[in-house]
Amino acid sequence: MDQKEIRLRGHHLICTGLFVGEGYSDRFSGNMSRVIRTMKEENPVVELVSSPDHICRACPKLEAQQEEGKSCKLDEVAKKDEYLLHLLAFRPGYKDTYRNIIGAVKDRITEEIFLECCGKCSWLEKGLCSYEKYLEGLK
Ligand code: SF4
Ligand code: SF4
Repeated sequence: MDQKEIRLRGHHLICTGLFVGEGYSDRFSGNMSRVIRTMKEENPVVELVSSPDHICRACPKLEAQQEEGKSCKLDEVAKKDEYLLHLLAFRPGYKDTYRNIIGAVKDRITEEIFLECCGKCSWLEKGLCSYEKYLEGLK
């Protein structure tokens, strides 16, 4: 990945910590793997946002919205991003290195905050994501 700065939606702070290779399409999963690898290996500056980010850009749901007016309900997702960022004492537009941001998340995350983000997500219901697994990944 060539960019030195990565845009990351608020709730993707959690999703990237629980990613196990599954996603909406092979292109989506490949791109998400590359974004995560870049952040972990190169520690780039990350900008926290509440709009489409470097993970969304390979998502079929984003493409569907652009083409047909169908989407992942981007307004609702933006509200979720903003609320999660607020709970973690960040704000949209905040920038720091990936490791500094994850270090702050580690200090601030609680199960209640995790469930605000993930409590209604189908991936939690399927058992693919859990607070315990997220904490394990932060170690
Ligand atoms: S439960 Fe959903 S929102 Fe939460 S980390 Fe998993 S995929 Fe992301
Ligand atoms: S476009 Fe929507 S569903 Fe796709 S990765 Fe972004 S927030 Fe998630």
